[in-house]
Amino acid sequence: MNFRRKLGLDILPEKYAYGEDPHYGHTSEQKIPDRWVPTTCGYCSVGCGMFIGVKGGRAVTVRGNQNHPVNLGKLCPKGLSEHYTLEAPNRARYPLLRKNGKLVPVSWDEALDTMVEKFRATQERYGPDALGVISTGQLVTEEFYTLGKLVQLGFGTKNYDGNTTLCMASAVSGYKRSFGSDGPPGSYEDLQKADVIFLIGANIADNHPILCQHLEANPRKTLIVADPRVTKTAMMADLFLPLKPRSDIALLNGLIHLLIRTGQIDCEYIAKHTSGFAELARFVEKYTPAYVAQITGLSEDLIIKTADLYGSAQAAFIGWTMGVNHSTQGAETVNAINNLALITGNIGRAGASPFSITGQCNAMGTREAGFASSLPGYRKFESAEDRAQLARLWKIDPDRIPTSRGLAYPDIVEAAVGKKIRALWIIATNPIVSFPNLDVLKQGLETLDFLVVQDGFHPTPTTELAHLVLPAAIWGEKEGTYTNSERRVSKVNRAVNPPGDAKSDFDIFLALADKLGCREELFPGWTGPEQAFEEWKRVSKGRLCDYSGLSYSLIEEHNGIQWPFPEGTTEVGTTRLYADGHFPTENGKAKLFCIEWTLFPEQPNQQFPFVLNTGRTVEHWHTRTKTGQVEILERMSPNAWLEMNTRDAQALRLRPHDSVDVISRRGRVRNVELRVTEIVAPGQVFMPFHFAEANANQVTQSAFDPISREPNYKQCAVSVQLSVSPKERRAKESRRKKALSMEVS
Ligand code: SF4
Repeated sequence: MNFRRKLGLDILPEKYAYGEDPHYGHTSEQKIPDRWVPTTCGYCSVGCGMFIGVKGGRAVTVRGNQNHPVNLGKLCPKGLSEHYTLEAPNRARYPLLRKNGKLVPVSWDEALDTMVEKFRATQERYGPDALGVISTGQLVTEEFYTLGKLVQLGFGTKNYDGNTTLCMASAVSGYKRSFGSDGPPGSYEDLQKADVIFLIGANIADNHPILCQHLEANPRKTLIVADPRVTKTAMMADLFLPLKPRSDIALLNGLIHLLIRTGQIDCEYIAKHTSGFAELARFVEKYTPAYVAQITGLSEDLIIKTADLYGSAQAAFIGWTMGVNHSTQGAETVNAINNLALITGNIGRAGASPFSITGQCNAMGTREAGFASSLPGYRKFESAEDRAQLARLWKIDPDRIPTSRGLAYPDIVEAAVGKKIRALWIIATNPIVSFPNLDVLKQGLETLDFLVVQDGFHPTPTTELAHLVLPAAIWGEKEGTYTNSERRVSKVNRAVNPPGDAKSDFDIFLALADKLGCREELFPGWTGPEQAFEEWKRVSKGRLCDYSGLSYSLIEEHNGIQWPFPEGTTEVGTTRLYADGHFPTENGKAKLFCIEWTLFPEQPNQQFPFVLNTGRTVEHWHTRTKTGQVEILERMSPNAWLEMNTRDAQALRLRPHDSVDVISRRGRVRNVELRVTEIVAPGQVFMPFHFAEANANQVTQSAFDPISREPNYKQCAVSVQLSVSPKERRAKESRRKKALSMEVS
């Protein structure tokens, strides 16, 4: 220690000095930036506008953008600490190639030459579709568009999908089936304009926290929340429906039954804009309040009251997230939600919408840019006209465009296990934590001849298995656009340089196109994302997601603009889809579906008596690759936990803070801290899925929606037992009490 410091004369002013910031006022000098770079949050699909404060080339702080219509200056804990992710110790800095069993740094040239050589050799030997690609919802739209072209036209495989299939595929499939196209019809403004807001399986207080401020800005609303768990969002509700796990379809059918019976439907809208009403009306006859009460566990009174509130609303909004999507009947549940909105005419008007709240910051961008479950611009693989249009735009032979979608994410994994996929490229996702029934995935990845993982972080449980790791720039280090849940396209900007030799995903894709010899054909003259954006505008022109009137400068000027925004649009404001009642189906009408409720696939029994529900917490993002490195978030939520009802805990003689194991037919999660609580009902337990160290996906099942291919993460049968012997438990408890008393004193 220096002498002046020892005497207390050196007060380290360079570290602790205060200064005056025009935005924050009196604050740490170190946190006062030289410049503020406007951008959009890179975590969730709410799409909050923010600024990154840069000082001496480093991101030192962030603040919310007060003029951004989504968040009006507010940010949640993840957004407020997002700059820390840029300098996380686990950032990937150099390309790493496995040599003699070890990942060693190599040049970009060697990395990309090896990748192209291995992929080409695999495809020559086993066929073009022996190469699989799994991407993400974290890239900018320009990168998704570029990647899709590179994968399907450059590498020539159609086995390309994103981790958005683990998240939003059910909403996508449900929208396509009901309305003829993907695309959430409503806007966040509807949360402020609706007089009834019905949230089903959507814990927005934890997962989309800034949306709560839109709810709070609506003093007239009645908030109805349906969830098996008393979530933070349920605690905000005027009417809470604690329904049994996965009984939502029965509830929706029961509401439709009551609304038809009481005449609280919009007959004119049904006749003009929907098809299939007579069949639906006959089908829901059996969903009487008594039958629905038996399935859902709700009282008949509660069901009747919900129907009456929804049916008498001038404008009713239904929002949902993973409680609906993460199910083997996810897409069908979305259809049942759409049925309810359509028969009451609650779509295409202010406050009235069936609205899927998306997951990742740019899950919407990957859906629009396509190449996975649709072609770009929500075009269909099966449509010769759509393929011909794209071929004209790209000046290529239409035969090069696949006529059907390739394998979806879970089917790529299964094909890897069965050695049909021999090489895999994983981009910005960490399936070794996020994929259900992990042992199957591990088997698939370990069977591969060549695995490339491109990510901003290393090591992650997935990069550790790779033959090649490509280091990528992340949020704050690259440019492009994100689309949020309400179709708002917002600008993302580069504030600082990526670490080491890391490159933006866009630059990696172009460099690969160079190596493949297809750069000039597929990406003529492109050097930056704006050129991709300009081509994307032409490709989206005339489609539902029309970007043709947008430009980077216009988006920046208005803090994001919602699509559709066709060329020539002069007014920037709130947009809603289907305001004219015309849907992109064959007859222009929305389709009503008869959806039967069925039991979820793995029912509890004597050996596995609990239904495990999995989900998130506000402090963490997905697999904690990012948030696990942010000290303040880690301190707020350092460990996984298991919620169990008091009665069940008593029956099992378990106590709060006990260390327990969660066991299913597939595996065991060890040493999870027990929370004894009334948040979950008897017979149910809940666990967050963020923690690799106590990974819920060791016990979840390989059960997927046959329509959307989304996993059934939400319900599986488990048992719970103490991790340690009673003696060890006593010792642990006394250590904990001692530590607590020391903290207090
Ligand atoms: S709500 Fe979502 S977009 Fe907004 S700051 Fe939080 S994580 Fe970011």
